[in-house]
Amino acid sequence: MTSDTSTAQADATGRFLEALRRALPGMRLLTDADESEPYRRDQTAHLHPGVPAGVAFPSSTDEVSAILRLAHEHRVPVVPRGAGSGLSGGAVSVDGALTVVLTGMDRVLHIDADDLYVVVQPGLLNADLGRAIAPQGLFYPPDPASYEFCSIGGNLAEDAGGLRCIKYGVTRDYVLGLEVVLADGSVIRTGGRTVKDAMGYDLTQLFIGSEGTLGIITEATLRVLPLPAMPITAIAFFPTPVDAGRAVAGITRAGVVPVTLEIMDRTTIRAVDLALAVGLPHDAGAMLLIESDVGGAAADAELDGAIEACRAAGATRIDRASTAEGADALRDARRKAYWSLEQGGVARMEDVGVPRSRSPELLAAIERIATEHGVTVGVYGHAGDGNYHPTFVTDPADPDAAQRVNAARAAMYAAVLELGGTVSGEHGTGLVKREWLVRQRGEAHIRAMRAIKSALDPLGILNPGKVFLD
Ligand SMILES: Cc1cc2nc3c(=O)[nH]c(=O)nc-3n(C[C@H](O)[C@H](O)[C@H](O)COP(=O)(O)OP(=O)(O)OC[C@H]3O[C@@H](n4cnc5c(N)ncnc54)[C@H](O)[C@@H]3O)c2cc1C
Repeated sequence: MTSDTSTAQADATGRFLEALRRALPGMRLLTDADESEPYRRDQTAHLHPGVPAGVAFPSSTDEVSAILRLAHEHRVPVVPRGAGSGLSGGAVSVDGALTVVLTGMDRVLHIDADDLYVVVQPGLLNADLGRAIAPQGLFYPPDPASYEFCSIGGNLAEDAGGLRCIKYGVTRDYVLGLEVVLADGSVIRTGGRTVKDAMGYDLTQLFIGSEGTLGIITEATLRVLPLPAMPITAIAFFPTPVDAGRAVAGITRAGVVPVTLEIMDRTTIRAVDLALAVGLPHDAGAMLLIESDVGGAAADAELDGAIEACRAAGATRIDRASTAEGADALRDARRKAYWSLEQGGVARMEDVGVPRSRSPELLAAIERIATEHGVTVGVYGHAGDGNYHPTFVTDPADPDAAQRVNAARAAMYAAVLELGGTVSGEHGTGLVKREWLVRQRGEAHIRAMRAIKSALDPLGILNPGKVFLD
């Protein structure tokens, strides 16, 4: 870029910010570099974020609409941002772009216990939605491990999963309708409040998982369920992750559908126990956390079925949590797996998925790849969905650790695709998996995606550089 072009661009950005201030004088808008700093990154520490033109905090759909209308007019890029817990770089700031933080729009607008839906704003934290509806006997199943610090808008934009997907499905299974501000500032409403709706193209599903590249979600109508029984919990230990993977296949084959079926390998068990002292055996090769929420004798029968499959796969020890507090501690330990591994160095969480019956092969491949590339990896995740989070942990002082991790990642993704899997089960493409999106989906698929992108965002101002490889 010549200095003339960059001066012209800086002038255009200046005019845009001035117009924004004039149009929305009451809206919080940061343009100071120090103040903007906390909004430049998500949870991908290894990425290098751009320097934003500013950070805006709208409090209504009208404000979001005005922001995008002006951004469109001045051709200034916009990065939508929820709570910044993403692991694929979707909310990472872009040079000269306005970051639009949605966490101020965090209200529950309506709870309907008769028709089993809620209407919420995108900045609401996932866990706060659960707390808001529980007193009415209602339940919103998608619960990423980050549920205390991720927003519903971010969940929708990534099609987030969590610890209950094996039984209840992912975010997209709970969305009845959306309000979305398009790139030019116009506002559309998709879907509705009915159980069935066959009118027109299903734009609701198009926006889910679109990672802020097609529009900004400003409201969501979400399906909820009656609150299930308190889960009962068991843990099973195995000599190796491959044995645990075989147990998962056995549980699936037996037709048992627990609400939670999570795995942690030896490296993760040790890290979690060192960090949280929950009494997990450091010599176990892997463990499964298994829960049932059907209540009463049926819950016991469900756990018995899962336990039988674990024994058949070679479980060396099986414990049942005897108190609700004990079960909470185990669930919490699993949710804090990433944080625990982070205590041992620089951690980089991956998110690969395979058809569940291929889990033992994937787990064996990850172990082999880590050894071949001389890297430490802790594997944990949603074994019941075949969705794993291998997390590479490296010494910050090791000069070529990042290179070895990148080589190991590439080998792992290739193995995943060989097994008929996906390079991302729930964290999205963002910045970190763009080249693998092409490898996984193929050129024709990417052309169809680009056609949709340019129809909805012809100037390419929404989250540029994310998802698509330029
Ligand atoms: C320790 C840890 C555990 C995690 N566990 C899980 C897990 O179990 N399952 C899982 O799925 N994820 C998990 N995640 C990843 C992350 O929490 C999810 O991807 C979450 O959905 C991101 O929400 P957010 O509000 O933080 O979004 P952000 O990180 O702020 O943004 C994510 C993407 O959404 C877009 N976006 C945000 N809000 C909007 C909006 N209103 N309209 C349009 N686009 C928007 C952004 O542009 C960006 O592309 C975990 C993360 C961490 C750090």
